[in-house]
Amino acid sequence: MATKKAATKPAAKKTTKTAATKAPATKKTAVKTAKKTYVDEVYERVVAQNPAQPEFHQAVKEVLESLRVVIEADEEKFRRDGLLERLTTPERQLLFRVPWVDDKGQVQVNNGYRVQFNSAIGPYKGGLRLHPSVNLGIIKFLGFEQIFKNSLTGLPIGGGKGGSDFDPKGKSDREVMAFCQSFITELYKYIGADTDVPAGDIGTGAREIGFMYGQYKRIRNVYEGVLTGKGLSYGGSLARTEATGYGLLYFTEEMLKTNGIALAGKTCAVSGSGNVAIYAIQKAEQLGAKVVTCSDSTGWIYDPEGIDVALLKEVKEVKRARLTEYAAARPSAQYHDKKTEGTNQWEIKVDVALPCATQNELNLDDAKKLVANGVIAVAEGANMPTTLEATKYFQDNGIIFAPGKASNAGGVATSALEMSQNSERLSWTFEEVDAKLKNIMVNIFHNADEAAKKYAKPGDYVAGANIAGFLKVVDAMQAQGIV
Ligand code: NDP
Repeated sequence: MATKKAATKPAAKKTTKTAATKAPATKKTAVKTAKKTYVDEVYERVVAQNPAQPEFHQAVKEVLESLRVVIEADEEKFRRDGLLERLTTPERQLLFRVPWVDDKGQVQVNNGYRVQFNSAIGPYKGGLRLHPSVNLGIIKFLGFEQIFKNSLTGLPIGGGKGGSDFDPKGKSDREVMAFCQSFITELYKYIGADTDVPAGDIGTGAREIGFMYGQYKRIRNVYEGVLTGKGLSYGGSLARTEATGYGLLYFTEEMLKTNGIALAGKTCAVSGSGNVAIYAIQKAEQLGAKVVTCSDSTGWIYDPEGIDVALLKEVKEVKRARLTEYAAARPSAQYHDKKTEGTNQWEIKVDVALPCATQNELNLDDAKKLVANGVIAVAEGANMPTTLEATKYFQDNGIIFAPGKASNAGGVATSALEMSQNSERLSWTFEEVDAKLKNIMVNIFHNADEAAKKYAKPGDYVAGANIAGFLKVVDAMQAQGIV
């Protein structure tokens, strides 16, 4: 380490000096190309050590690029402390077998994951995703993002994420229960109210959390807040179901207001029709905006009269059916099949786009269409739904852009409020939780806004959120020594 440090410093100095003497005009370029910075080294290390995990690389790249300005101001210290290597390496990664028996008596085997990424500021906290696309790289990208998101909430929660390639879609309730019980029979050893508190995510709703909680309690014989997103009759928090979608809109409204724009009267496109999307649509409509699209993995709806939330909830939450049923029941709605038409909701002319389905669902082509159609703002409800190229395109074209780790933090923030209520053995009213949620989202926006002004450039909420989230975590990591 000492040798490396000694070798790097003079070399960098020499390059600068030579460039300055010979060609002052190209000084900047010469320094840039000659010197590999600590950020570059760590990104290369992440790619080399985590092959075939593109989503994880993408999440790390986005964060490290934003942190460059902070890291490079004190590069030698961060390098000596191995700070970025520690930040990008999970504290613990659990991979396990999840065997269960289907309704035909056939044994099925799924992969289970829990990545406990960083506990510097609190117990690991993050959802469990149940979807066939789940693999270690996806869980790591989500866990890494969660560190900064949780920090931004201002609450004492570390970063983690988990899940399985199990698909609850099309399974009977008994099959879902068999899977959830098997999953927790392994995971229970590593979680606990003060250790790691998982929650819902794609495919993990109230039903799945209930089955998991029941099995945890049965094995451990303790009644503790080990999972969030619980039902109201057994320790859940009012407003947790609505929190991510509502929080997204509280954030978006504040962001627009700060930029001198009113949300009321605007037209919005939402993608997805799950937990985040449904409550984002509901709150957008309550705040006076009109949402004209939603989607699922097979198709999308254009409803120029505005999405009927009650009908959407009936189709998705009660019947667990496809969006074709929404279109069949609503004369103003048009259904578009994604596969046969090759289209998606981003081609509709709107003022605000709210991607609320899944990662990388809004690419450069989509961004170009939205910008050409005059979009004003994009706020991410899902985790990393916008590709790096699309994000850059929005920012280069002056579109107000809110990164998910800030704008969708309402879910985890309310999960942390659920943990507080469980510890107190008290339940707060809907209005109390909702008011706290709104306050948290407004604060997150202003923290990201301030950090953007101080360290990056005004209005760059991607950099602002990453830097604000990082500063608290790094302070705690440095205080706790090399662990
Ligand atoms: P749900 O499972 O409730 O809904 C997901 C929605 O996205 C469904 O409409 C689903 O369609 C669609 N979708 C899922 N995967 C794909 C895919 N590969 N391609 C196209 N559409 C897809 O999940 P949530 O609403 O809870 O989560 C949505 C996003 O928000 C995720 O990125 C999640 O990580 C993030 N998030 C969720 C939080 C929460 O509190 N729930 C908190 C913070 C972030 P279909 O039903 O056809 O699969």
